[in-house]
Amino acid sequence: MDYQQILEEIQQEIIPLIGKGTIADYIPELACVDKNKFGMYLLLLDDSAYEVGDVQELFSIQSISKVFMLALIISHIGEKVYERVNVEPSGDPFNSLVQLEYEGGIPRNPFINSGALVITDMMLTHLENPKEELLRFVQELAGDTSIAYNEKVANSEKAIGFKNAAMVNLMKSFGNIHHDVEDVLDLYCTFCSIEMSCAQLASAFRVFANHGTGVIDTKKYITKSQYKRITAIMQTCGFYDEAGEFAFRVGLPGKSGVGGGIAAMLPSHYSIVVWSPGLNEKGNSLVGLKALELFTTKTGTSIF
Ligand code: GLN
Repeated sequence: MDYQQILEEIQQEIIPLIGKGTIADYIPELACVDKNKFGMYLLLLDDSAYEVGDVQELFSIQSISKVFMLALIISHIGEKVYERVNVEPSGDPFNSLVQLEYEGGIPRNPFINSGALVITDMMLTHLENPKEELLRFVQELAGDTSIAYNEKVANSEKAIGFKNAAMVNLMKSFGNIHHDVEDVLDLYCTFCSIEMSCAQLASAFRVFANHGTGVIDTKKYITKSQYKRITAIMQTCGFYDEAGEFAFRVGLPGKSGVGGGIAAMLPSHYSIVVWSPGLNEKGNSLVGLKALELFTTKTGTSIF
């Protein structure tokens, strides 16, 4: 298959959409990101890589960090994670509060904000230094120690994160947050502020395509059964209230973030990352979704 040719075709076909959508300017520090950016990076298990566009430029991975957070906590405490967070799609926006009250403070899944806030709380309990450990974990998965948090983005979100604060407080009232509200919010915003390029993110995500084992270092980061569960949650909950649409149009497990990134993978074959900052009304990259739909259609590869 001529992957390079396919990526170049996609780059041409998405031109009319470039610049469309909205930037996640509710986080002030993200408001200045150039909407015209586009990068797409494909990494196969045999180490061959194909790319078009701005694949080396760093962007804010935001909610894509929720996959790394889940993988790290699961590698420490296993199935206990699911006592405090469910694994059902929410069908609601990523920052919605409505289900939380009538479901007794138990978030629908780990990939919406409330779920990731509970995971953050667990990380404060079970990891000695969660801030350093998550970053080290991501660096290790990607094989790149230059990956870092962007404190400016983290602080910018902390300053306006009233809805996240409301969620943590509500969950604390139900006994599902054990630490100080401010500590949970600080750490959560820091996790969201990780910056990576398409190339780095594809390297990190390839561990999921390889069933939880590093391709180069052959380290078993998570067990096969943990991999299976994380992948299932990506498939059903990775795109908030657009998870169905993503499965329908693309057909790969993956995760999006409001920085405009989407990371996805085909088990046993490849990881693929697209970045384009213009978001659709569900908070997913408008161009990213289209580019991935074109990719799985043109290559005839998807999990279905
Ligand atoms: N940090 C963002 C928030 O909490 C993450 C949301 C996202 O990427 N969907 O709003």
